[in-house]
Amino acid sequence: MSDPIIFTGGTIESMLDGPHPDAVLVEGGVVRAVGSASACRAAATGTPRHVDLDGRTMVPGFVDAHMHLLLHGCRLDWADLSHARSIEDITGILGNYARAHPRAPSVDGYGYDQAVLAEGRHPTAADLDRVDPSRPVTVQHVSGHGFVVSSVVMRALGISASTPTPIGGRIDRADTGEPTGLFFDSACDLLTGEGGVKIRNHGPNFHLPMRAEELRRRFDLAQESFLSAGITTVCDAQATSRELTAYLQARDEGSLRLKTHLLVLSSGLEHLRQIGLSSRLGDRRLEISGVKFYADGSVLARTAYLAGECCGHDAASGDTGDGYLYHEPHELHELLLEAHRLGLATATHSQGSVPIGIVLDAIGDARSEIARPRLVHRIEHCGFPTDAQIARMARLGVVPVSQPVQLHEHADTIVDDLGPIGSRFYPYGAFQRAGLPIVISSDAPVTDPGPLRAAWAAITRESVSGAILGADFTIDRKTALAGITSAPAALLGRSDVGVIAPGAAADLVLLDANPVTADIGALPRIGVTETWIDGELVWTAGTGEAT
Ligand SMILES: [Zn+2]
Repeated sequence: MSDPIIFTGGTIESMLDGPHPDAVLVEGGVVRAVGSASACRAAATGTPRHVDLDGRTMVPGFVDAHMHLLLHGCRLDWADLSHARSIEDITGILGNYARAHPRAPSVDGYGYDQAVLAEGRHPTAADLDRVDPSRPVTVQHVSGHGFVVSSVVMRALGISASTPTPIGGRIDRADTGEPTGLFFDSACDLLTGEGGVKIRNHGPNFHLPMRAEELRRRFDLAQESFLSAGITTVCDAQATSRELTAYLQARDEGSLRLKTHLLVLSSGLEHLRQIGLSSRLGDRRLEISGVKFYADGSVLARTAYLAGECCGHDAASGDTGDGYLYHEPHELHELLLEAHRLGLATATHSQGSVPIGIVLDAIGDARSEIARPRLVHRIEHCGFPTDAQIARMARLGVVPVSQPVQLHEHADTIVDDLGPIGSRFYPYGAFQRAGLPIVISSDAPVTDPGPLRAAWAAITRESVSGAILGADFTIDRKTALAGITSAPAALLGRSDVGVIAPGAAADLVLLDANPVTADIGALPRIGVTETWIDGELVWTAGTGEAT
């Protein structure tokens, strides 16, 4: 462990109430004292090294309670389609990428959004065939919930008009029944091929095969991206055997830099039961923290189950637009009950009020059978809960885990497509009034890791066009800053991160401005200059990796 270090010369925002300390003493990777410089020097066991904050602001390392590390690494490695505004843009970007990577076995892109494309539709296999007819071409939707693949890919996988559409998924087809190349939600299971990860109707399968060196590169790229955003603790919200293997290998090699919590996808629940996993398992660096479930599709892909939520869709008639549930309601109910009986925390992707209701019914039954008041149950995203459901979440101790940057980046098209209900998307203010914890996360790669930008989006609810969406649902700055530090730490069952206090891990971030006093509008532009984990400098601006 490192020598003692005293930090002074800047603003220390501990995220705790009370006067600002002048200094922080770190010893053995842990914060030993917080207070005056003389008190910190007196508390040190040896001669401390001095680090001058040089006017910068120190905050606790940020905590991201919902992200996908390896998929974020894919996004960083693949062609970036997030700025495409037409299918011509998409094929142009992919064409440039293909020419720049002539020996890559495939051409891949991430992040197109059909809602902003001039053609008003998703791309098709025919579009992608024009990029490169000889290599597989694959693009992933911005939501992470689906892909469009070229004809080469479908031929190699034997996908044809006779391939059935699975429950909880979508295969877009021409009038002839021939797939057009678009696969969403549980239909993505078809794309991992023989021997690939299979998750049936338990989620969108984005665990596409990759070579060992690609996996390593993407894993490292993604870790660097999180550290550069000042994020030191994460929760990977969809772990299959592939993610478990990657994380365990990184830990054993000493290359796992982030403190990581894993939610094992519910397709693995039966295996967890068989091996007797009945609680959390791991240590302060890598822990299995619960099970991830999917109730419905994606708001961004318009596959969320929005019966009754939006104009033109009528719950009574069963019309949910293009949306669907992953499981029959009784099947999801039983899965959630089983996890709770085993003692496993749950986190369920649910956007519409119908799927949110299914989850709350199951958690209600589970809590009345065995209370387990400390066992965490989460609803991921929680796009459109009713007021009654928000009150019920508070009674049942169910925590919403939403992503305000999605609101900023996509609310304009969501309001266009869904009508006025769109401005209720992720109703943070209502969560706060009901006494629910406020947790802010990225869902990277769906939005970039950037906790202060996410806090700004939750505070302002400002869309790209400058509209304020649901002024009743904004939150205050203090709550938003807790939402990227202490609140997600508490959700993950940790008191050792998300604060700067004696006994806490020395996970520290140095910023070039103070997020507590800066103009709200400046929050997204505050820069991270250094990231420390367990008293070690692990990232610095300009040079990247520090050690
Ligand atoms: Zn996610």
